[in-house]
Amino acid sequence: MSESIFCNYINGTWVEGESSLANISPADISDVIGHYAQANQEQAEAALDAAIKGQLEWQESGLEQRYSVLMAIGDELIARKDELGKLLAREEGKTLPEGAGEIYRSGQFFHYYAAEVLRQMGETADSVRPGIEIETRREPVGVVGIITPWNFPVATAAWKIAPALAFGNSVVLKPANQVPASAWALTEIISRQGLPAGTFNLVMGPGAEVGDLLINSKKINALTFTGSLETGRKVAIATATNLVKCQLEMGSKNALIVLDDADLDNAVECAVGGAFFGTGQKCTASSRLIVTEGIHDRFVDAVVARMKQLVVGHPLREGVHIGAVADARQMKQNLNYLEIAKKEGGKLVSGGDVITEETEGYYLTPALFTETTNAMTINRDEAFAPIACVIKVKDYDEALATLNDTNYGLVGGICTQSLKYATHFKRNAQTGCAMVNLPTAGTDYHVPFGGRKDSSFGSREMGSYAKEFYTIVKTTYIRS
Ligand code: NAD
Repeated sequence: MSESIFCNYINGTWVEGESSLANISPADISDVIGHYAQANQEQAEAALDAAIKGQLEWQESGLEQRYSVLMAIGDELIARKDELGKLLAREEGKTLPEGAGEIYRSGQFFHYYAAEVLRQMGETADSVRPGIEIETRREPVGVVGIITPWNFPVATAAWKIAPALAFGNSVVLKPANQVPASAWALTEIISRQGLPAGTFNLVMGPGAEVGDLLINSKKINALTFTGSLETGRKVAIATATNLVKCQLEMGSKNALIVLDDADLDNAVECAVGGAFFGTGQKCTASSRLIVTEGIHDRFVDAVVARMKQLVVGHPLREGVHIGAVADARQMKQNLNYLEIAKKEGGKLVSGGDVITEETEGYYLTPALFTETTNAMTINRDEAFAPIACVIKVKDYDEALATLNDTNYGLVGGICTQSLKYATHFKRNAQTGCAMVNLPTAGTDYHVPFGGRKDSSFGSREMGSYAKEFYTIVKTTYIRS
């Protein structure tokens, strides 16, 4: 492995790319985290060929080996959460506690699926014909292509890699090119676990090249993708052409409803935490705050007061609540949405200022708009920014209708003390996840995660539900 270039990992070997990309911190553009190899077409094909071979060996491994490998990866992630959290904060811009929290959670995904390794059971049945027995068992789906986004580069990779390996598959991982360092660090940990060569491969590079090759490959048996709706559609079309199994987690436009009877303090914490932490760059962020008339003014005042306490700054500085925007492109997009919201009649009541730190980076204070409608562009498009918009409504029925009036359907939330409304909401929110008196962001690692409408496609990720994607059922008939 070259000293200065972080290499791809193909067939159990570190391989330099044809070129390399400088990974620059969005919190300090003079901070070059490293140079990361960019895989060429030949190398991506080599990774796929290696994965075909590696999978055949890995599926024959005993469950004890798979369990031990996954436990060891989880243990190391958890033990190194501060060090790797710092790396993640530097390259992505989230705060150090958020970075360390993501690494810790990633370790938990590996531990959870280590336990799932030991829970793989088949079923038997009598035949309708005498003298014949039937068994059904799950087998590995084969070679799994994994394409991940930049906002949760380690957690997203972890919740896909862990079940893929647990169920006996091999992996070709392509991380987002903005954040290769943490994916590389995770690969380095995996590379020391004694997996058969080719069982796990890392190919870094642009989505339009390396990603495009993976999604169009017939060497892949299943492709799991997290990212934008636009790219997700391309993945769905490409994989459908080859009849490759596919699972997509995409964009969102989540809303939090605040009813008149809500506990105000809790509603404010849910709104502020859900909308602005992680710099609003969470697929679970609540960018729409749907508030009934009776609590509207008190709620807005309290949210603005709370926002004034939030410190925006370098992600590694102590006391910072909101780190940097991920890159120059995202910053430009955020500023564009601020302008669009103002032009369409939204009233900016707090934030939205570009600020400077000691280091040159992309810093934006969280922004709150009032007097917005659900028809405005800012309430239709996923901005992926620390921008939240209040939509005033008459009552619960209008609030629910507004929440559901979107092309997306990942998470919906409600703050209320009414059992009647909470119960109705959890059954009628057209979302994959529903939160009652909780922020829309923040999910557990042992239960399914995903959305409806344009937010998700294919079977659910996480928890025991993941086996639908990572395995294929075989039915065997036996005449004794
Ligand atoms: P993106 O779609 O730009 O990129 C995602 C990945 O796809 C990257 O690895 C990228 O290199 C790759 N890619 C890009 N073009 C490709 C192509 N033509 N073929 C194959 N691969 C290609 O998304 P992003 O900007 O990295 O991530 C932000 C998006 O991710 C947001 O929309 C966010 O909501 C979504 N997201 C969703 C979830 C979820 O679970 N629903 C979680 C995190 C992020």
